[in-house]
Parts: sequence; structure tokens; C-alpha cells
Amino acid sequence: MKPPVSIIVHGGAGKIPDKAVEDYINGTGIAAQKGFKLLKQGKSAVEAVEEAVRSMEEFPPLNCGVGSSLNRQRHIEMDAFLMRGNDLKSGAVAGVARILHPVSLAKRVMEDTPYLLIAGKGAEELAREFGFELLDENELITEDALRRWERVRKKMERQVSDTVGAVALDRYGNCASALSTGGMTYKLPGRIGDTPLVGCGGYANDIVGAAAATGIGEDLMKVVISKTALDHMKRRKDLHPKKAAQLAIDYLEERVNGREGGIIVMDMKGRVGWAFNAPRMGYAFIRRVGSRTFRGGGV
Ligand code: ASP
Repeated sequence: MKPPVSIIVHGGAGKIPDKAVEDYINGTGIAAQKGFKLLKQGKSAVEAVEEAVRSMEEFPPLNCGVGSSLNRQRHIEMDAFLMRGNDLKSGAVAGVARILHPVSLAKRVMEDTPYLLIAGKGAEELAREFGFELLDENELITEDALRRWERVRKKMERQVSDTVGAVALDRYGNCASALSTGGMTYKLPGRIGDTPLVGCGGYANDIVGAAAATGIGEDLMKVVISKTALDHMKRRKDLHPKKAAQLAIDYLEERVNGREGGIIVMDMKGRVGWAFNAPRMGYAFIRRVGSRTFRGGGV
């Protein structure tokens, strides 16, 4: 029997308005499809999660790449992360503005530097060295992001802004996790959320599985949510990822009153789970077990 391959992605958790539901279904559905195609071709989980996140970075309705949220000074500061489960090496960037695919820069940090996290100007300099196209920041700013910014500025409310994430298992038995975000709308310049921090935004460990979270970064960081979800599975060998995801969200709520979180989780059989206590979260998954393929998703 062929080994299982599996991918689950999320497009962020929060107050997703009715009129945006279709965008979330399309954005996450296409991303899962693109990642799954690579897994079927025998590509690695790392390549699959990168591809899935790249597809969402190119999709303006989601808060990453083009369409990223704006900070208080009306500038873009994106964070991204990628981690492989075989040796626990990860790469991340924080506060970058001028590239379309921060997740690919995070992958280069993982693969081609001894570091785990590079921020700001240093990350942009690295992007230049690696040959990434450096854009004018305005090319990444959309009308929608500007409207979001105006709304939050007027109300001064804290708003969750829909990070995207993906986790995958490949046919070689390796898993990976990736994330990309513009962060919270109207955040203080220099603020870095959970997304690029190991174990908070995401985690991948081939002896357990992988996870990727979304929500108010300051709450997610306090409970190291992705690692927390996977630790449940490490302790209880056959715990379903769905249960682990729910336990992590319950803990977020009980321990730090975190109310707008979401998480996707996968085990090394390719079983997937998700949970959220935000009003909505967009997600999509595709799994192949033997000759059968299972698909699902929702908002
Ligand atoms: N977790 C992200 C952050 O705090 C935002 C989100 O998931 O929507 O930067």
C-alpha cells in the first residue's frame, strides 16, 4: 500500500464576514490542492507547505503577501515561518515589507543559514542576496487592507487579521509546518506576533506531527499553542489530532482568556484535526490513504 500523504491549510480565524466566506473557501481550497499535487508527485512536505502558503500569499483577500494588514504608520510588516519535522530546523522572518513570498525567504533561512529568525532590514538584505525580487511596498497594499486599517484606526479595536498556515505529511514520512501573515491590523511598528516563533505559530516534529495556529499572537505565544497541541499527542499515543487541537484551544481560553484562536493539527498517519474559538476559521484538507482520497473544508 502507498504511504499516506496529507495536507491541511488554514486561511486564518476571526470575524470573517459573510461576504468574505467564498474567498476563504477558494483561497484555502486552491492552496490545499496545489500542495497536495506536489505531495502526489513525490515532493517533500516542506515543498508542499511552501507551495500552499505561496498560493495564499498571492491571493489578495487573505492577510499575507499581497493584501497584508498595515501597521499604525500604514506600512506592511510581514512575518513568516517554515519548519521541517526531521531535524526540528526551522527558518523565519519578521517585519519584512518588500517581498511577495516571505514564506520562501523563511525556507531559505532554514535551509541556507545557521539561524532560525531574521528580522527587518537584515531579512530584506538577505532577500536581496538570495535574488528575491524587491518590490515597492505599495504593490502589496490593497484597497481592502486600507479599508481594514481605516476601520480599526477609527474604532481603536484589537482585530485578528487572518494569518495563513499549512501542515503536510509526505510519502517519506516527513512532516512540515509553514505560516505567513501581515500580523494584526494597526499594530505598533516593530510588533512581532506568534507566527515566526518556534512552537507558537507552528511546529513540526516527525515523531509526533505538525501544527499551525492563528489568532491574537500575544495570547497564542503565552500558551505556546502549536507545541502544546503536539505535546498532547506525544503523551497520548493514539490521540486524534482533532482532540489535540480542541485541547489546545480549550487551554488558550481557560488559561489566558484567549478568545479568537484557531489551529490545524496533523499526525504521522496523515490524520487531520482543527479547532477554533473565533467566530470562524477558513480551512481545507486533502488526504490520500491507500487508493482513497478524502477532501474537506469549511469556514
Ligand atoms: N497570529 C497573527 C498575529 O498575531 C494574526 C492572525 O493569526 O490573524 O500576528
